[in-house]
Amino acid sequence: MGFFSGPGDDERESMKPRSELDDLQKAILEAAMPQEVEKVALDELTRLSKADTSSAEYTIGVNYLGYLKGLPWHSETVDNLDMRRAATILDDEHHGLDDVKERILEHLAVKILKLSRKPAILVVDDDKTARRNLAHVLGKEGYEVQLAAGGAEALALLSAKTFDVLVTDLKMDKVDGLQVVEKAVAVSPDIGVIMVTGYATPPAAVEAITRGAFHFLAKPLQLDLLRKTIKDLLLKKTANLGSRGPLLCFVGPPGTGKTSLQRSIAKSLGRKFIRISLAGVKDEAEIRGHRRSYVGALPGRIIQEINRAGSKNPVIMLDEIDKLDHEGRGNTAAALLEVLDHSQNHHFLDHYLDVPFDLSWVIFIATANSTANIPAPLLDRLEILSLPGYTEEEKEVIAVKHLVPREVDEAGLAGHPLEFTKEAIEKIIRDHTREAGLRNLQRQIAAICRKIARKVLADQNGVGGDYMVITPEKVDELLGPRKFYFDLAAVREQVGVVTGLAWTESGGQIMFLEATIMKGKENLLLTGSLGEVMKESAQAALSYIRSNAARFQVADDFFLGHDIHIHLPAGAIPKDGPSAGLAIALALLSLLTNRAARKDVALSGELTLSGRLLPVGGVREKVMAARRAGIKKVIFPSLNEPDLLELPPEIKRDLQIFCAATVEEIVEHVLR
Ligand code: ADP
Repeated sequence: MGFFSGPGDDERESMKPRSELDDLQKAILEAAMPQEVEKVALDELTRLSKADTSSAEYTIGVNYLGYLKGLPWHSETVDNLDMRRAATILDDEHHGLDDVKERILEHLAVKILKLSRKPAILVVDDDKTARRNLAHVLGKEGYEVQLAAGGAEALALLSAKTFDVLVTDLKMDKVDGLQVVEKAVAVSPDIGVIMVTGYATPPAAVEAITRGAFHFLAKPLQLDLLRKTIKDLLLKKTANLGSRGPLLCFVGPPGTGKTSLQRSIAKSLGRKFIRISLAGVKDEAEIRGHRRSYVGALPGRIIQEINRAGSKNPVIMLDEIDKLDHEGRGNTAAALLEVLDHSQNHHFLDHYLDVPFDLSWVIFIATANSTANIPAPLLDRLEILSLPGYTEEEKEVIAVKHLVPREVDEAGLAGHPLEFTKEAIEKIIRDHTREAGLRNLQRQIAAICRKIARKVLADQNGVGGDYMVITPEKVDELLGPRKFYFDLAAVREQVGVVTGLAWTESGGQIMFLEATIMKGKENLLLTGSLGEVMKESAQAALSYIRSNAARFQVADDFFLGHDIHIHLPAGAIPKDGPSAGLAIALALLSLLTNRAARKDVALSGELTLSGRLLPVGGVREKVMAARRAGIKKVIFPSLNEPDLLELPPEIKRDLQIFCAATVEEIVEHVLR
């Protein structure tokens, strides 16, 4: 019989809600919530039993308890710790990316190793016989046991070594058990703590212990109970792969495999996978939830998704952590830090739940397009894994091995002899996509497969006729005329037009810089959505040339009575950064010396007012973009030489690379 059953005749009216509360009570007791949460839930239930069932308060309360009872307090998946299997899954699902896969496996290996070493237990007791007995019993269980004769000795041991479990007497001279626990939790927050207390323990101390969710066993110690408690504590720890260690963050342009690598990680561990997009999240409540002050209030996204997954130890991908909006309400970055911080997240407090939920079981992995916009305190916690994008050759292999079979299958064409020729794939990559990753490539292949599916159905014989072999001609026929010209090297060579190399969040890109001169009043016009830094570097480039006119064989009064206009197409895309300075200087020199710039040479470098060349970022992406565009020679500042040396040979193939320390060295390489 429930708490609230057995209404009298006069209570018939409220029969339904009463049984609703009875059901809730039953569900709460069955949900195996942590003790303190269960208490909150039962208190709320008692409050509701007195509330008016038609009130908003009642509805809010019932919804709340309904939510609370459904959360996966104790339901988790069992980790598969087979590293060879993990490696096979990563390899089967991803071509290349050897460094990243290696790093992922190392990350998992460290966690697994930490878990598989002999558990270390520290026993603190000022009674010599008790210490000895415990050492003997626990040693026999296969644990590594260390003994401390008192609080002071325990503190020293705790500073020197990490323990999994602490078994300590409460009452000791000088430094007592509570002080030892305080220290133990400070140095390793997830240590399991067992307090051993005598009959004379003051209630205040017991209260302190239970509040801290430590276990406590009464003297004289029942050894079986001790063994079981230790086992439970360790079980919790070993299942808890999520806690500790640096947090991985996959950084790269869209479509480079960030999501799919994380899916593979979850799959190899046998965990649920959840993706939470942080793009544009500007209200702290989206992370931490809304207080239950109105009927529609909801928990934050983290709790909602864990609830949906029905497992407390999923892999959660925090997508686009660099796109968090800092302008909105509350501090989103701080809320996220709390979610990720191992010393805090085992009692994460969502505003809606209002009781702690243990997030330390979760493996969080972040993604970002660039590290530039990640708030510093967050960046500090992350270990960055770069996925800079794929070369054309890599894309071809991935398309053949992964994307085509997947999309053919998706389109229901699995049993059909559909085949894409190598040339057709090359054509899709070159003429119908422009990206560092694979998203559009996958989309275009999917589009072709869907069109073929239609043709198969329309065809009387059901085979799709000669569409079973996709050639470059079929690609153009099915996808329409080629879409991308812009990313190809210039068709004509022109005075005043130089090819630069830019880095964007979607990878590298070539970029044309145009300069022209006309009658005017010594104005420098800059257009093409240039940011402040880029405008300044254009001004610096002009001043540098004016002050060194003789050296470059230009008249030193060239600016007199003239305006100079520098433009960067595509005009609507915002551009910024100092690395176009060198290319702007060359565009000006081309213009002023009336020598056309070579169309197959591209350059990137920051130029100082005194003519020094400073290194630029995104070298790998820029080199890849140059190759993609059919450029033959790239020019970088000498200070970028180490970056260039590091690049894998296949990225540099067919490409001449020239490094220079001054503008003068470059002129003859660029201008006709
Ligand atoms: P991101 O999360 O970086 O935007 P995705 O993981 O969604 O990118 O990748 C886009 C598509 O490309 C997915 O279908 C993914 O499986 C595929 N993909 C990405 N990298 C590889 C790779 N190295 N090998 C095979 N497929 C890949």
